Amino acid sequence: MAGNGEKPVSLTSRKNSVQQHQVCILGSTGSIGENTLNIIQRHPERFTVISLSAHSRVDKMLAQCLAFKPQHVVMGSEQAAASLKEKLTAHGVTNINVQFGNQALCDIAKDDNVDTVMAAIVGSSGLLPTLAAVKAGKRVLLANKESLVTSGQIFIDAVKTSGAKLLPIDSEHNAIFQCLPEFEQHRPGECELADNGISKILLTGSGGPFRTRAVETLSAVTPDEACAHPNWDMGRKISVDSATMMNKGLEFIEAKWLFNVQPEQIQVVLHPQSTIHSMVQYKDGSVLAQMGNPDMRTPIAHALAYPERIDAGVEPLDFFNTKAFEFEQVDYARYPNLKLAIEACSKGQAACTALNAGNEIAVAAFLAGDIKFTDIYKVNESSVDKFVSERVDCIDDVMTLDGKAREFASAIVAELKEQN
Ligand code: NAD
Ligand code: MG
Repeated sequence: MAGNGEKPVSLTSRKNSVQQHQVCILGSTGSIGENTLNIIQRHPERFTVISLSAHSRVDKMLAQCLAFKPQHVVMGSEQAAASLKEKLTAHGVTNINVQFGNQALCDIAKDDNVDTVMAAIVGSSGLLPTLAAVKAGKRVLLANKESLVTSGQIFIDAVKTSGAKLLPIDSEHNAIFQCLPEFEQHRPGECELADNGISKILLTGSGGPFRTRAVETLSAVTPDEACAHPNWDMGRKISVDSATMMNKGLEFIEAKWLFNVQPEQIQVVLHPQSTIHSMVQYKDGSVLAQMGNPDMRTPIAHALAYPERIDAGVEPLDFFNTKAFEFEQVDYARYPNLKLAIEACSKGQAACTALNAGNEIAVAAFLAGDIKFTDIYKVNESSVDKFVSERVDCIDDVMTLDGKAREFASAIVAELKEQN
């Protein structure tokens, strides 16, 4: 008590200080990008959009430019950039700097006028710009799990060197982050979970749209069926990854790096309702869970405003009308890609980089109608086997291996296409 005449320390001192952030969104036209803009639009006093990027969707980017008036925009090609510029001019907007290509993406990610970067490009194309943001010491909101999967220790070392602040957007990792002691939240990649009485990370997954479908019919699955996730509305690549549970495999590897844990300390738990977004188990028997309706605006708002809490437009859970909480063991015969990823996590960086590259090629081929759903595993397994012994010591090694694995996987896809 303050019996010596001193004023008691206020525990509510955050009330008057609204933190302002200057934001770059890499991949603003995607599912995560649009949800990020939805949160920003709700809090104009907190967030200013400095830069946006998109691969090819010119009309969506035009609408975002008119609504958010960024200073810089990066498109995937010269053609897309020229088309956007023309349309902006037709709307009387001539003060947006429109560029294209990878170097421009890295430039907006490390721009001095930006303090927060949402890394929401899909696939390993997001690696270099995300890493540029990390190296520049930004607050990096990491949705692009593939960048961490493909470069692991190299990425984490860059975070440590630059002092970048890494905040997980993946709902599972964001949930785990929220269930950690506050001290550990400030040092992703260097957490000492055992010292804090933590015994396990419990990574939940819904099992996707085919959890109960007869396994022998999976080869006939169509792209639209695979993308119809029961709980989450996401981009097509991650939707297919959720159907194969490769997404949980990538998240397993992501969790290893983010929380500095060994594979034995991570357990995947099937939870079909996606109400619990993941859990942390403590030695004393406590299990902390983060719950909510499955809406990515919750983790995005959490990370954007961290350590404050802001309205995300998400309905609170209605416990009296919530479906039952169910939990199941994973059946690896149904989800061989998850087993492959868990094994790759122990085999090392080359296995993880090759697996991610093979998977990106395989999923694109499945979405294009070139291979069967069950062929994705064949491409992924061969990619790991082929490159597992390669050395990966620096980012150039990552890029080289990523390229070789893509070429190899494309050749397998061509063979499979021939057979189908
Ligand atoms: P999406 O396909 O909806 O959007 C991807 C974005 O990246 C788009 O803006 C697109 O223009 C851009 N892009 C695509 N290819 C590119 C390239 N080669 N170069 C530059 N930009 C490119 O994807 P999404 O669902 O928003 O997912 C984005 C990332 O977030 C992925 O890594 C995914 O795993 C992760 N994530 C997504 C969700 C979700 O709910 N959607 C949840 C957790 C994690
Ligand atoms: Mg996730």
